[in-house]
Amino acid sequence: MELNLTNILSIIITIAILIVAIKITFTFDINKYLESRKKDLENKIKNYCPHAYVISVEGGVKVQSAFISPSGTTNYICERCQLVTYHIDEMTERQRVQSFAKDLKEYNKQEKKFQKLLRKAGYI
Ligand SMILES: [Zn+2]
Repeated sequence: MELNLTNILSIIITIAILIVAIKITFTFDINKYLESRKKDLENKIKNYCPHAYVISVEGGVKVQSAFISPSGTTNYICERCQLVTYHIDEMTERQRVQSFAKDLKEYNKQEKKFQKLLRKAGYI
């Protein structure tokens, strides 16, 4: 190939187009990656959320469920992680919360992981 001005120009243009194309692809992938990472993190937050909180009462602490049922809906939503549940069996939920109350160490372990994830996601 003869290296005249036209050839050099077309090589430069081709390279410029390639760079733009690579940049667009890269930006697109980065956004997709960040989005999927955020989604992963949010799922993790919901998994580690104890869906309960500890309140101090006279003579100690009490564990209370964080699920509330907003008026006008039969759904339950966790006040702490926004997890929506369509049905909660009161008995099972009470047992779940009671098991935390019996084993506060386990609760604290989960709470610590939960807080760590919240910090990672920039919520606190
Ligand atoms: Zn929760």
